[in-house]
Amino acid sequence: MVYDFSEGSKEMVDILGGKGAGLAEMVRIGLSVPPGFTVSTGACLEYLKTGELDSRLWDEIIEHLKILEASSGKKFGGEKNPLLVSVRSGAAVSMPGMMDTILNVGLNDHTVKALANLTSNERFAYDSYRRLIQMFGEVVLSIPHEEFEECLADVKRHAGVMGDNQLEAKSLKSLIREYQEVYRKHNREFPQDPIDQLKVAVEAVFRSWNVERAISYRQLNDIPDDLGTAVSVVAMVFGNKGDDSATGVAFTRDPNTGDRRIFAEYLTNAQGEDVVAGIRTPKEIRDLEKQMPDAYNDLIKSAEILEKHYKDMQDIEFTIENGKFYLLQTRNGKRSARAAVKVAVDLVSEGLIGKNDAIMMTTPQVLDTLLHPQVKYNGSERVLGKGLAASPGAAYGTIVFSSEKAVEMAADKKKVILVRPETTADDVRGMAVSQAFLTQKGGMTSHAAVVARAMGKPAVVGVESMTVNLREQTLRIGEEVFREGDTITVDGTNGQFLFGEVTLETASVTPEAQVLLKWCDGIRKLGIRANANTPLEARVARENGAEGIGLARTERMFLGSERITIMRSMIMSTSLADRLKYLDMLLPMQVADFTEFLRTMDGYPVIIRLLDPPLHEFLPDKEEIMTEIFDLKLKLSNTMDSKDMDDIIAKLSDLRKLLQTVKNLEEFNPMLGFRGCRLGLSYPEIYEMQVKAIMTAAIKVREQGHTILPEIMIPLVGHSNELKRLRLRLETIARKLVGDMDIKYKFGTMIEIPRACITADTIAEYADFFSFGTNDLTQMTFGYSRDDAEGKFLASYVEEGILPADPFATVDEEGVGELMKMAVTKGRSRKKDLEIGICGEQGGDPLTIQFCHKIGLDYVSASPYRIPIARLSAARAVLQEKKS
Ligand code: PEP
Ligand code: MG
Repeated sequence: MVYDFSEGSKEMVDILGGKGAGLAEMVRIGLSVPPGFTVSTGACLEYLKTGELDSRLWDEIIEHLKILEASSGKKFGGEKNPLLVSVRSGAAVSMPGMMDTILNVGLNDHTVKALANLTSNERFAYDSYRRLIQMFGEVVLSIPHEEFEECLADVKRHAGVMGDNQLEAKSLKSLIREYQEVYRKHNREFPQDPIDQLKVAVEAVFRSWNVERAISYRQLNDIPDDLGTAVSVVAMVFGNKGDDSATGVAFTRDPNTGDRRIFAEYLTNAQGEDVVAGIRTPKEIRDLEKQMPDAYNDLIKSAEILEKHYKDMQDIEFTIENGKFYLLQTRNGKRSARAAVKVAVDLVSEGLIGKNDAIMMTTPQVLDTLLHPQVKYNGSERVLGKGLAASPGAAYGTIVFSSEKAVEMAADKKKVILVRPETTADDVRGMAVSQAFLTQKGGMTSHAAVVARAMGKPAVVGVESMTVNLREQTLRIGEEVFREGDTITVDGTNGQFLFGEVTLETASVTPEAQVLLKWCDGIRKLGIRANANTPLEARVARENGAEGIGLARTERMFLGSERITIMRSMIMSTSLADRLKYLDMLLPMQVADFTEFLRTMDGYPVIIRLLDPPLHEFLPDKEEIMTEIFDLKLKLSNTMDSKDMDDIIAKLSDLRKLLQTVKNLEEFNPMLGFRGCRLGLSYPEIYEMQVKAIMTAAIKVREQGHTILPEIMIPLVGHSNELKRLRLRLETIARKLVGDMDIKYKFGTMIEIPRACITADTIAEYADFFSFGTNDLTQMTFGYSRDDAEGKFLASYVEEGILPADPFATVDEEGVGELMKMAVTKGRSRKKDLEIGICGEQGGDPLTIQFCHKIGLDYVSASPYRIPIARLSAARAVLQEKKS
């Protein structure tokens, strides 16, 4: 259950936790690490089950403590040369700052004197002791942090100093007495026996696996609850021994940009938690080179060795004790999305990893973040302040000062910006629902900065020009005071924050991302198309790498003010002749739409879907018309002028006709009603006009020298006869128009009704292609209304685990997916080369893309802005398949 550092390796993360495995690995490759041992995660789970530290486990810990005493040449509790240890948490999955760690265990009223004598540094010894008492009180006995901080502030005020590190030994001794008073207020004593300290410290770290913030963090990050934390007991080395001692955090590359340079911050004469907590603003690493050149060189060398060894950017914690350099931790460093992609691509060109590794290192979420909005500056912004650009991207929202408030307002669908003096692990829930963070204190490695990068949210930290007063709930900048509810914009890319809400623009794909996506294109089997309804969307799709249009919804083309009027007249026509008259007016407009579209997608297939929604969607609401009739009647009764009266009467007559049409079209369940091919079969002239427009445009664009591949798609087919009849009729038109020109076109259908999946073989007889409409297919398979379910019960279904995910976001493999598989098999049994894709919203979802790859689709179609994510996900699907 307990492993000496020399017994472990990086492969043992499950047993030793990330920290323990990292320490062991560093020892194994000969780096400078203080001696120590790790108590396994299994021991933690056992403890959490029984609530007691097993006596055999304790014996084993004592055995390892003896080895540690021998290797360090010090004695635990010894009054000459006392051994002090840190007791550190560390799970298999990184949960930064979520669990507890206690430093300086082993100090008591006697050993502190020995330490002072030994180091001839009384200040250092008593500073270490007061830190132990404070941390022990907070972690083991749950005494509130503020009670100790109040004492510290009092003593500093009394001594007339600003910084903790300016307190003399005398003040520290009185601080210790104050701290012991705090214990007494809680009916506790600080344990003087070091062995007792160690035992309860180990137990407290085990228990910290189940503190509320750790549980929340696991929920937010999908980390299982049954991993447990390991506990590493490490011989203390001191960064607070004087001005030749320091402690710091280093990234082997810049975690924001990914640039290849050491990125570190440190504090002289301090202990680790001072840097991470962001309480003192740390120094830049360049100063270390001047101040302690040997230790600086050790840091640079270690960073290089670790990167080569782990083949990834590392996040290192180090301490320098009287000029000697020690590593206390290494792990893969958290980084911004931009940095993640750059580091992955750079590691390939440096020969450390292969292209496939780089693709697997880049999650779709990372790319998603990269596509986050940025401020579109036009010079009119009012900059309120500037701090460190801790995490890129920009967002606006209303100011909140607490996590609770953030959660409460976000539940009301408000966009919030969390503003704090500094953040702690307790703020994670609030951070998860905020758009961005702004803090007064802290550096690039402070809690707020690290969490923001991991969550992919903008953050600005260390804004010294502002004051956050939690009691008053105010943010002061000079004379100006901001309160909860005021709106600001945080620009984490340049470190500024701005007054009010400013215009944001969608981020572009970085050059490294372009390189990575090109690699993906070389690997993926799935084609990538876009759902685009306008030529502009088609252009964005092309720029993002789409290889065609998977769905152009033509109904969106009838919504302009001129067109909707003609469309309404067409719908209200009572004779075929009238309908044809209006359709003739729409024809040239549709030709213009399709011409532009096909030209933009030169050389790529374009699927144009014939009219799909129920016709009432083009008409005004019944209540709206009735209100208008009521108002006009009122007006009529007050009008004397006969000309006005005639006008009103004419208008009323039109409105009554409109109302009658709306009433005629009214259905109890319009999504299961008169729409899609059902409409096309009842009013074939509508589809005929559309096919005429598509083919006329195709001929025109072809004559201009472009390559065009139009695919005409018929929606909502449930029976093969629907498709058979429509195809026969529509293809006659196409054939006639094309004549003997060399123009290829296809006729196909959406597969979006369960019956279509079940009878896909007979449907395939009349289709050149299938496209899964998983929006409708999900609606009809589950029997959930796609327009209502999400707001009514679906969210709680997912939250309560009744459904593993929202099936309108990720295809439900077990049900809808089975139907899709059946349709693929049956469809291809009739037509071997049947082209099959997906155009439902799930087509841009990474998990769905992986599924589509698995069942052998030809392509996925996603919104233009999700095309890069689809390219990456499709490549990852191939690599994941290989791996499994
Ligand atoms: C679908 O049903 O999945 C689809 C793409 O069509 P629409 O969303 O337009 O009904
Ligand atoms: Mg549909």
